[in-house]
Amino acid sequence: MNLLPFGKLSPHRPRTFVPLQIDLGDWPQIAPLFDELERRAAGADNAVALEQWLLDWSELNAALDEEASRRYIAMTCHTDSADAEKAYLHFVENVEPQLKPRQFALEQIYVAHPQRARLPQPRYQVFDRDVKNHVELFRPENVPLETDEAKLCQQYQKLSGALTVKFRGEEKTLVQMGRYLEEPDRALRQEAWELVTKRRLQEADKFDEIFDGQISLRQQVAKNAGFGNYRDYAFRRMGRFDYTPDDCSKFHDAVEKEIMPVVRELHAQRGRQLKLDKLRPWDLSVDPENRPPLRPFVQVGEMVSRTQKIFDRLDGGLAAGFRQMDDLKLLDLDNRKGKAPGGYQSTLNEARLPFIFMNAVGLQRDVETILHEAGHAFHALATRAEDLYAYRGAPIEFCEVASMSMELLGNEFIGEFYSAADSKRARRVHLEGIVGVFPWIATVDAFQHWVYTHPGHSSDERRRAWLALMDRFGGGVDWSGYETARANLWHRQLHIFLHPFYYIEYGIAQLGALQVWANSKRDKAKALDDYKHSLALGSSRPLPELFSAAGCTFEFSAKTIQPIAKLLREELDQL
Ligand SMILES: [Zn+2]
Repeated sequence: MNLLPFGKLSPHRPRTFVPLQIDLGDWPQIAPLFDELERRAAGADNAVALEQWLLDWSELNAALDEEASRRYIAMTCHTDSADAEKAYLHFVENVEPQLKPRQFALEQIYVAHPQRARLPQPRYQVFDRDVKNHVELFRPENVPLETDEAKLCQQYQKLSGALTVKFRGEEKTLVQMGRYLEEPDRALRQEAWELVTKRRLQEADKFDEIFDGQISLRQQVAKNAGFGNYRDYAFRRMGRFDYTPDDCSKFHDAVEKEIMPVVRELHAQRGRQLKLDKLRPWDLSVDPENRPPLRPFVQVGEMVSRTQKIFDRLDGGLAAGFRQMDDLKLLDLDNRKGKAPGGYQSTLNEARLPFIFMNAVGLQRDVETILHEAGHAFHALATRAEDLYAYRGAPIEFCEVASMSMELLGNEFIGEFYSAADSKRARRVHLEGIVGVFPWIATVDAFQHWVYTHPGHSSDERRRAWLALMDRFGGGVDWSGYETARANLWHRQLHIFLHPFYYIEYGIAQLGALQVWANSKRDKAKALDDYKHSLALGSSRPLPELFSAAGCTFEFSAKTIQPIAKLLREELDQL
């Protein structure tokens, strides 16, 4: 039985290294290909041979990547299929652990290869830099520490995921409680918020304990790799060659100076609309005019055809890409029984085609999601001609420029879904969301900078550091009576526990997307040409060049943020 929504897709380029008849879920069949690559590297005695070797390695990576994606897609589209689950777990448990050391061995061979210096430049500059970085940071003594760290990450997930509350006689998860914050009945919102907050606070010591364990492991990992602190190590490990901790501080300062006045204005306006003297933490998600939710569509087919119309109006090339995805059944968007929750964009790396998975139910959030994921899909389509596997991806700071730009550009034509009045409302909600997330990104990022540059701090000192940031980036919300909850609010931010320092990327990318959008207001055709051209670069160039190809500056101080804050304020005034 074919569990994939799409039919047979042939590889973008016919295979020349990986055999046509091979089971890529069976390690004994895969291992000889790694043996052969290791053997052949030794014989590559000129740059052309080494380049061909890289392309063969790329072909293998793409085939394995697509195999993993197909199994993941089949499983998430059919959670009720035991076969699909088994096939996915087989790959994760029997193939991936074998792959890791073999891939690393090839990276080491490449870095030490005598012909590497003869490869054409700047073509291999980024690839070289990234592989070298990966190899140089590896320390065998860090492997068990990373396993211990992963266990603590799992403990955090288990602890957070198991939290439930009793609400009106029913047991609810904290995620399920989220929707009550959108209820017009204020007393009900407060009741729901207090329940969730109290439940989290009951586990405050455990969250602190898990985090203390993670910090000490991370410090040791950094020390083993020769770094003075974990922050500097994390920057290197994430391949942040193009910005520094100091640039992040400038971002925090600029958010405080340029964005916070807009946040405070929005809070004041919300207070007036809700007829409240003070906004409390449970007043931030409700519609300020108590209107029922927006209803952009009923059937998923309508969502697809209206999204298609948006792209038709935006750009012929992008529109053709979206149509092709629909034709090839690379969109699985409806919510139905037996489908995993959430949404994602995945790439079938051998066919070099994107796939979008969603659970659309007719909310404005679905429209934002399809535009966002389509942006990622356009990125994948734009790099189809690139033969080096590593260059068909891009750093997250730029991947999200592709997707967030599409939300902003697509929203200009949101009238395909709504009346004039509802279009304004939808755009307003979107822009308010963008403004509102900057302070939280700055808070979460600045907090981690503090944590990892203050070794040996106590839990109390850490809470004070957090509270100082809440003062800087809290806006006009009154927390009195809930001081303990405010001091422990970071416990709910999973990135702090699971993906240290990985959060500012979204702020950086949003600045890029807002610049693309600003450019489109001056010259739409040029802005879209630049956008498409920058996407086609994949990750073949460093971040500042990707940004500049997209018509943006890679800079996150007030110089960049000030005009953006001005534009956001002007747009919001019109809505
Ligand atoms: Zn995204």
